[in-house]
Amino acid sequence: MAAHTHEYPATIRPPGAAAKRKMDATVHFSMRLDLCGRPRAYRRMSAPDADVIIAGAGIAGATLALALSRAGLAVTLIDPQPFEAQLAPTFDGRASAIAFASFRLWRTLGLALDLEPHAQRIEQILVTDGHTPGAAAPRPGSAYLRFDAEEIADRVEGEPLGYLLENRHTRAALARAIAASDVTLLAPERVAAVAFEPGAAKVTLGDGRVLSAPLAVGAEGRASIVRQAAGINAIGWDYPQAAVVATVRLERPHEGVAHEYFLPGGPFAILPLTEQRASLVWTESRARAAALKDARPEVRHAHLQRRFGEFVGEATIEGPVFTYPLALQLAERLCAPRAALVGDSAHGIHPIAGQGLNLGLKDAAALAEVIVDALRLGEDIGSEAVLERYARWRRFDNVMLAAATDVFTRLFSTDNAVVRAVRGAGMAVVNRIGPARRFFMEEAGGAVGDLPRLLRGEAL
Ligand SMILES: Cc1cc2nc3c(=O)[nH]c(=O)nc-3n(C[C@H](O)[C@H](O)[C@H](O)COP(=O)(O)OP(=O)(O)OC[C@H]3O[C@@H](n4cnc5c(N)ncnc54)[C@H](O)[C@@H]3O)c2cc1C
Repeated sequence: MAAHTHEYPATIRPPGAAAKRKMDATVHFSMRLDLCGRPRAYRRMSAPDADVIIAGAGIAGATLALALSRAGLAVTLIDPQPFEAQLAPTFDGRASAIAFASFRLWRTLGLALDLEPHAQRIEQILVTDGHTPGAAAPRPGSAYLRFDAEEIADRVEGEPLGYLLENRHTRAALARAIAASDVTLLAPERVAAVAFEPGAAKVTLGDGRVLSAPLAVGAEGRASIVRQAAGINAIGWDYPQAAVVATVRLERPHEGVAHEYFLPGGPFAILPLTEQRASLVWTESRARAAALKDARPEVRHAHLQRRFGEFVGEATIEGPVFTYPLALQLAERLCAPRAALVGDSAHGIHPIAGQGLNLGLKDAAALAEVIVDALRLGEDIGSEAVLERYARWRRFDNVMLAAATDVFTRLFSTDNAVVRAVRGAGMAVVNRIGPARRFFMEEAGGAVGDLPRLLRGEAL
């Protein structure tokens, strides 16, 4: 009779009680059960070092680690960057538009007190199709779309359209929470290789140590080692664009309004931050983006002021200017036996709709829920049957958003008169139809569809 193995009888421990496992693998006995659950054979094997090993302590990986640890799992989180390096203002200049459902996830994990002082409510989004470079101020006759938090206030209990949060504050809050949790953090350390055996994922670190767990998660971004080791291909292409990102101080209050301008070089976004500041995401051809980044401050300032027009008054760049080359990348699968992918290791998309990280957070919430529920049922969390549940849950959302942002990027990064006329008409139609506008707002809020419990604000 076929035997199934219970090599990792991981049980859910009460939150906070997850034992930190020793990093030197010890030897213990494991029990094989036959299909009726009777002991069948004993053999010696290495104890797992963790229930789950996560490669990559970016925002998606760290959030997943915290969610699993809060539910009592032993988690090892690995990243080549020391957390302190991630907190430096020069590490990540981006601010992310965080859907209100994603914010609920962090609230449920206990990060709200740390994050709320830095979270700027987005009350209104104005999308304008402007074909002339310059003046981000609305011009008569330009096509526009307007989304207002008030319109959906009754359905979302007064939550805004989303929040703008500087990534450095999110990273700092996650780092503090991870330090105070039972997560075993190995940083600076990198995942050098992963081998998938029938009973375990074996993760080789940069220093040669080998750790094992029933499940290895790839959260290490686009060049994911876990994805490659699991034999999962990725498809995608580079955009001829790069995003120039800077923080500016505004002369006049922004009142929680986010502006997105579609210009021929690509979208130009002015995203409201706390303390009367804004984050600029200025998409340009790669050559122009490099020139802008390296330009003398006064030249850059003059360009910026031309784009801005008058409506927010004088804008002054604060801190460094960053550039990010843009590309689309989509993993062909989200899991393989003993491997799962979350965040940019599964899907890297254009920031045109501010959804990349939101997708990664949804992945983290869905995977954590699938794993915790499987453990409660006594299932093997690294088995294909369990991980397929996660893949089925997230696949459609990820592929649809990657495709939609790709189409949007092409549609809105051209000065072709016909395309402009069609997209202008489309925007005017959506703008006039209340239900269509509300649909887009609820989509952007991330609170539609089959939501993981953490995104509904419920603990696992
Ligand atoms: C200009 C711009 C603006 C954006 N704006 C928004 C927005 O408004 N809203 C939004 O939702 N999204 C936005 N995004 C997308 C968002 O920034 C990304 O989707 C998100 O940062 C990805 O996070 P991640 O944790 O999945 O991956 P990453 O941030 O890539 O983290 C990967 C981590 O893995 C580590 N790592 C790498 N190799 C290894 C290894 N071998 N072993 C272990 N660890 C390893 C890295 O050090 C890193 O810490 C934007 C993107 C850009 C470029």
